[in-house]
Amino acid sequence: MIKVNSLKKYYKMGEVTVKAIDGIDLEIEENKVISLMGKSGSGKSTLLHQIGLLDRPTSGKVIIDGVDVTHEKDTKRSKKRLELIGYVFQEYALLPELTALENVYLPGMMLDPKSDYKNRAIRLLEQVGLGKRYKHLPKELSGGEQQRVAIARALINEPNYVLADEPTANLDSISSENIMETLLKMNKEIGVTILFVSHDPDDKKYATQHIYLKDGKLVEPYF
Ligand code: ADP
Ligand code: MG
Repeated sequence: MIKVNSLKKYYKMGEVTVKAIDGIDLEIEENKVISLMGKSGSGKSTLLHQIGLLDRPTSGKVIIDGVDVTHEKDTKRSKKRLELIGYVFQEYALLPELTALENVYLPGMMLDPKSDYKNRAIRLLEQVGLGKRYKHLPKELSGGEQQRVAIARALINEPNYVLADEPTANLDSISSENIMETLLKMNKEIGVTILFVSHDPDDKKYATQHIYLKDGKLVEPYF
């Protein structure tokens, strides 16, 4: 479980303080599909960065499987992230000079160069329906295919959690549905928790638990 306690993230912009996250308490259990919704600027990406250990809070705690990692050294936080958390970005964030296969196995190689990361990557690409595309470069793939490569990459180290920040925002409706179905399939097949951000109320249907943000605070569902 990931626990977030009294979490705040403030940005100082000259005289002004932006309260991007303003006192959040949250528990994210394993094997769930959770939507994180809210208007643009409500703090969704900031919260995801905190949960995904990509950034540190102004105050409060992030506790992963009982361990408070808020103030751990960068190296320890990176290792926890590689082991437990997969991240999927709106813009796919694949390395352009690496093939689909290399993109997928890179975090596996980083965590454990002696492991069979290559075979795991091939299997994952097959699972996301790209078994025949693993030698392609990102630019040779459609947006939806690139995002499926990014999902395979997020799963290479068998994480307990996949955090997806507006994973379908750049895609047409058919590719979007395909990406959401792929994420749900991974939840069913490997039991990984999927926490996805969306600002489309329609995407609620994919999740069984819903989190709503407004001005950096959790609020009751408003749609
Ligand atoms: P969302 O993902 O819901 O659109 P964000 O988490 O990106 O919202 O941003 C929440 C608020 O924090 C916004 O007002 C945004 O401008 C501000 N913000 C986010 N990142 C930074 C930053 N690095 N520096 C200053 N302000 C930021
Ligand atoms: Mg955002």
